[in-house]
Formats: sequence, C-alpha cells, structure tokens
Amino acid sequence: MNTKGSPESPSMRPWLGVNVLSEFAFCPRAGLVELEKSRLFSSEEDLEPRANFLLMPLYDLAVIDEEISFRVGAALFLIPLVITAAIATTVSYERFGLAASFLGVCFCFLLSGILFRTVRPLPTLLSTRAYAKARSAREPDPRKADGVKIDWWEMIHAGFRATHYDEPFKDHELRLTGNPWRVLERDGVKIPVFKKRFNDGPSGRNLFPQHYARIAAYCRVLESSLGCESPYGIILFAGSFEGVAVSPSTFQARAALSEAMAVAHSTVIMHDYEQLPPEKPPPSFCKLCPLGNPFESYSSTNENGYPPNVVSVVGIDGRSYHSVCGDRFQWVPLHEKAFEKGLIKGLRSVS
Ligand code: SF4
Repeated sequence: MNTKGSPESPSMRPWLGVNVLSEFAFCPRAGLVELEKSRLFSSEEDLEPRANFLLMPLYDLAVIDEEISFRVGAALFLIPLVITAAIATTVSYERFGLAASFLGVCFCFLLSGILFRTVRPLPTLLSTRAYAKARSAREPDPRKADGVKIDWWEMIHAGFRATHYDEPFKDHELRLTGNPWRVLERDGVKIPVFKKRFNDGPSGRNLFPQHYARIAAYCRVLESSLGCESPYGIILFAGSFEGVAVSPSTFQARAALSEAMAVAHSTVIMHDYEQLPPEKPPPSFCKLCPLGNPFESYSSTNENGYPPNVVSVVGIDGRSYHSVCGDRFQWVPLHEKAFEKGLIKGLRSVS
C-alpha cells in the first residue's frame, strides 16, 4: 500500500521536540498542549527559560568564582560608602536637626539595601564552591551506567566539560529534535543532562516512562547529529547536584521511547485529521499534574493565549478557577486542588 501523503506516511509525521515527546509519554493531552505551545514558539530553547546560562551560575565553577569576586569587590566598595553616609547623616542631624538629615537617612537606607542584595548570595556561592572543590573524580562505567547515582561535580572532576548548545539536535529518521539543558563532553563521548523539575514529595526522585523516553531521545539526537557516542544520559534532580544515569539501550528506555513515539503520532493524526481530543488518562495522572492545577480566572484568556473558551468553575471560596488542560479540552481535570477547592462535585479525590 502506498502511504506517501497519507497521515501514516513517515514523511508526513510532524517533527517532535524531545520535551513534547516526553509529555506524550506521560499523557496524550499533556503532549498535545505541549506540541501546540511549541508551534507557537520557535524552538525547545524558548520553552526552557531555565536553560538560560545566566540563570544557572551554580553549575559552573568559573562563573561561581567570577560571581564571588564581583560581589566581594562591590561589597568592599559599598561598605565605606555606607559608613561615610551614616557618619555624615549623624553630623548633619546634630548640627541642623531632623529635617536637614532626612535626605541622608534615605541615602543610607538605599545604600544599605544595595549592599544587602550584593552580599546575600555570598554564603550560597561560597558553600557551593566549597562543596564542588571537595568532590573527587567519579563517573559511571558506561556499560553498567543505568541507575547509577552521580554527582555533577564528580563528573566535572572526571574531566567532562559542561556545554550548552544553541541549536537543537535532530534525528531525521525519527523526526525528533531537542536540546538538553547541558551536554557533558569528553573526547568523543557526549552525555545529555536534563533537570527533573519536581524533586519534593514521596515520588520526587522516582523515574517514570517520560524520563526514560526523554533520555533515550536525547542520546539518539546527539548521536545522529554529532556522530558521537552517547552511552547514557543524566537526570539531575533540580535544586541539587545529585542525579542518576540512565542508559538508552535498556529495554525500559527503548520501550518508553517507541511507546511515546507511537502515542504522539496517533494522537496528532487523530487530532489533525479527525479533530478528536485524546482520551482522558486514568484519574491518578491528573492528581498532581501542573496542567490540571486550577488557578484563579483573572482574565478571559489563559496563560497560553488560547481563545477565551475558559472552563471556569466557582469554588467553595466563591472564586472562579480554571486550568490549562481544562480550558484546552473543555473539562475539569481531577487534580487534588480541584477537589480541595470544591470544583468537582459528586466525585471523591483520587488516592
Ligand atoms: S490534567 Fe490530566 S488529562 Fe490534563 S494533561 Fe494533566 S494528566 Fe493529562
């Protein structure tokens, strides 16, 4: 059968971002929302403001050192200024009274505020630097890396260089594109790293199919684009330097990738050609999903700029709430906050 030009034809399949694919691995509705968002923006990088280098100084020792010397220099400049301003203000108060010293008092407050903001990050920067320096070189054996705990600084001490690429990598066969948060590089080996956002709570460090699919996809796009070896990827737990290595060649990772691809393609085909929304996932999926988290309706459009077809429900506090997924698919997701706020009547919360 000639499938060229039909929705099933590989050449007609949409290009998918790795982040979009991992949402499909979690829930088809989440995948579709993410896909539509990615069509509004130009690249995966736009969807990952946390990947901005300037917002991530704590993972680069050179930047930490620069930041410390800049802040110490600025503090050494500001401290004499604050002292001088305080003395001048006291003298003017004693000689000319309160009214004359008012401007000086304001100036002292202003300088003190700037000084406080300058020195406030120093304890964190210094403790991070001490922690980083105290680590020694350690890295997983590439053949047995799956599930091995890693430390960011131990990988750096083992000779890996953390790089951020501006352009996304591509795999033309799978029509996948993606750019991990960082790539750890040494010789011909490139290890993709991404950060797992939510690390609090009982399932904070557990890995799910979307994480395996994402690592497998990143390794694949890196190998296809750069002709390198990518024997494992790293999932870093946000807000820490700890992570876990995941091999793309285990059954679990390969199955997660192919399942996510299949769900993504069938969802997109059903939606684009038959305008059918994806099936609802099991209720437990929505319990903590950020897309189902209700927020107060302040305006007639939601945060993604969708038309004002907001599904707004009044809670027990008398306020109106809606959610990204609820607006998109015209329902009220069974999120735990929706139960707390009384947005779902006649149903019990999902445990
Ligand atoms: S709220 Fe539920 S249906 Fe919506 S994206 Fe999240 S898990 Fe999927």
